[in-house]
Amino acid sequence: MRWRRLRPHRAPTGEESATRDRERMVAEQLESRGLRDEELLSAFRAVPRHRFVESDEAYGDRALPVGSGQTISQPYVVARMTAAARPTSGWLGASVLEVGTGSGYQAALLAEMGAEVISVERHPELAADAAARLSAAGYSDVQVVVGDGSRGWPAGAPYAAILVTAAGPSIPEPLLQQLSTDGGRLVMPIGAREHQLLTLVERHGSDATSRVLDPVVFVPLIGEFGFPAE
Ligand code: SAH
Repeated sequence: MRWRRLRPHRAPTGEESATRDRERMVAEQLESRGLRDEELLSAFRAVPRHRFVESDEAYGDRALPVGSGQTISQPYVVARMTAAARPTSGWLGASVLEVGTGSGYQAALLAEMGAEVISVERHPELAADAAARLSAAGYSDVQVVVGDGSRGWPAGAPYAAILVTAAGPSIPEPLLQQLSTDGGRLVMPIGAREHQLLTLVERHGSDATSRVLDPVVFVPLIGEFGFPAE
């Protein structure tokens, strides 16, 4: 007689199926497009994106609304941006500024990799919701602050990395000033309101070099060093 392992017949719980959705997202959207950094891929497997963006398509290959007319980029763009901003000495303990908290998802990924994150959001309601989601998901060390992030957040400077997740016409001067002089990296979409180029700036001393990564579409950075409010 052969023994068969009996498996209980039950539907997977929401969390189990979310875990599977994340595995698939990482394999199909990130690894297959050439992203290989294991630390980054693990963070994408760990952070519950569905708790930040409330949509049936939380793990889909697309941008999604996050409230107040704002959107979060598709996972691949979030990953590209995060990979480009990685400090030479790694994320662990690195001080990082995010401009544009939105849902809090990007901030959670950075915190998952061990960064010390300050995230600035101009909409107070979005900031409050994001802070609540971050705490509920176990990322209560992320500091969410309300303000015009186009001016940066001088209190936490210098930053090893600055990620601007909204698009501006040019790199805001205060952000360059708040970037570490020792290889600090800033990633931001630069261009018109409707379409931009994801740009990486690296600072060494008083020198800053920049490189264009990908064409992208982000919501506008509204503020003193961004676009004017409509
Ligand atoms: N990184 C977010 C998505 C950001 S969407 C996430 O992971 O979900 C862009 C965000 O930038 C929006 O929430 C918008 O309100 C915010 N924003 C636009 N201009 C800003 C400014 N000057 N300072 C801070 N936040 C700004």
